[in-house]
Amino acid sequence: MNDCLFCKIIERKLPSKIVFEDDKLVAFEDVNPQAPVHILLVPRRHIESVNGVEETDRELMGHLFWISRKLAQERGVAASGYRLVVNSGASAGQSVFHIHVHLVGGRAFGWPPG
Ligand code: 5GP
Ligand code: ZN
Repeated sequence: MNDCLFCKIIERKLPSKIVFEDDKLVAFEDVNPQAPVHILLVPRRHIESVNGVEETDRELMGHLFWISRKLAQERGVAASGYRLVVNSGASAGQSVFHIHVHLVGGRAFGWPPG
């Protein structure tokens, strides 16, 4: 996992603007925000993508939603609306292969996604 960008951010070998962390995950500002609020929630455990999620990760996956919900509320987008996005695989646009939830909000989004 030495080459993983998000593992390095989690281990603080690379700088980032961390907004929340606990024993299971780290949340930090996306370096190239696509909306007024754009936070990445990243489990400490290195999982490549949704394809790498194991049965024993079920609680961890729920925790990602729980903290997403709390951060959405904290950043004032809970009422207006926001998106949780998990790109999985190259065709979906995944560029960092350590599973992460994008929490984006603060503007209107179109559907279907591009
Ligand atoms: P993906 O395309 O894999 O779903 O999302 C990767 C996200 O990571 C992108 O939104 C990109 O802007 C963000 N990102 C890439 N490198 C860095 C970095 O070094 N620091 C931070 N904070 N975000 C990054
Ligand atoms: Zn990693």
